[in-house]
Amino acid sequence: MNKIRYKAVLSLALSVVFFLCFSLNSTATGKVIHSGSQVGEKRVALTFDDGPHPKKTDVILDILREYNIKATFFVIGMNAEKYPWIVVREAAEGHEIGNHTYSHRRLTDCTDATEEFRKTSDIIVSLTGRCPTLIRPPEGAFCEKNVEEAKNCGSDIVLWTVDTRDWAKAGVESILENVKKNVCDGSIILFHDFTTNGAHTAEALKKIIPYLLEEGYEFVSVSQLLM
Ligand SMILES: [Zn+2]
Repeated sequence: MNKIRYKAVLSLALSVVFFLCFSLNSTATGKVIHSGSQVGEKRVALTFDDGPHPKKTDVILDILREYNIKATFFVIGMNAEKYPWIVVREAAEGHEIGNHTYSHRRLTDCTDATEEFRKTSDIIVSLTGRCPTLIRPPEGAFCEKNVEEAKNCGSDIVLWTVDTRDWAKAGVESILENVKKNVCDGSIILFHDFTTNGAHTAEALKKIIPYLLEEGYEFVSVSQLLM
């Protein structure tokens, strides 16, 4: 197949996927999700915001691979454009990719977020061939209008149950204690794979994962947690 025809086929295929994502195939309910079911099943979802980062994300992916754990990465569209191969790796290794807006603009004052959501979902589809169904607004700030905009983009809004505060320079022991104190069945645990504060996320994970395994928890993606 020559190059021009290949590009035309690829472009047509992506158009079909976009159409399916945002119209026919949407399972978005317009809900705001903080956790999975909190009774019965000992399952938790590890989530990582703000990446991909050219070095830090790979370290986290290596740890997850070592334990054969599937997590959810809420990527910033701008970062996904800069480091697309990392998003490809995340998807290839079975992790879920969520949308964390294009520019990480805080959605205060009920900002119109359609472009922020749509642009990032398009990037995720083009890199993974899969439609993202989860959006996490930066710093958890959003209004009712943003929930509707997310739904129109085929996604639900996802927050978290446990904030590890890795973004606030919390040390390894502090992150571990935070998880130990607050984790329960159905928890969505918030970490960051891209921070400018020298986070101890990777080091903390090496302690948190064995602890949660010892406690009998199973690790699943956010979408699996909600099934
Ligand atoms: Zn963020």
